[in-house]
Amino acid sequence: MTRSGPRDRHLDFATTLDYLDQRLEAVRGREVEEHLGRPCPVCREKLRTLGGLLETMRRDRTGEVPAHLHQRALDVFTPREQVSPVRRALETLAELVFDSLTSPLPAAVRRSVGEARRLRFRLGGHALELEIEREGAATVSLRGVLAAADPALWTIEVLANGERRTARPDANGEFALEDVPAGTLELAVNGPSGRFRLPAIEG
Ligand SMILES: [Zn+2]
Repeated sequence: MTRSGPRDRHLDFATTLDYLDQRLEAVRGREVEEHLGRPCPVCREKLRTLGGLLETMRRDRTGEVPAHLHQRALDVFTPREQVSPVRRALETLAELVFDSLTSPLPAAVRRSVGEARRLRFRLGGHALELEIEREGAATVSLRGVLAAADPALWTIEVLANGERRTARPDANGEFALEDVPAGTLELAVNGPSGRFRLPAIEG
């Protein structure tokens, strides 16, 4: 009987990231090295691409990740041939865990954060903080923070009044969208570990 062990498995996004940051336990690190040494050109390419991306981000923490690098990293971790149309359509509904509209903030907190509506969502193991503020008569601004392992590899999509807008969080997870049409906001968050759809928000 043959049994496939950890060294037979391709590296996933989180493991590759931890390996590059030297955060893996010794045993797991050796398994990764054995897998790379089989050799596995696919995982070596993942390592090279993600390593390049991380280096770029470290060199320029405030700058944006170049679009071609961002796309490249997404491509190596989500090979087209492995993503069936069925799987692409699969998305997880994010869970609303806080809404200042239904759980009003204490007056003192409200004074310090202003009148913006604040929401918090749970996206699997990640979290999204969202702040929606009325700008003009018919527009709102969205600001937020995505708490994920590598937020710059994610995108935040907003569909509002037929208009689709996309924001990419920076290395700290922060993103902002201005002049978004007020009304029903449909948000989706896409990243290496999946696609999360938020319940519709009346903004
Ligand atoms: Zn591999």
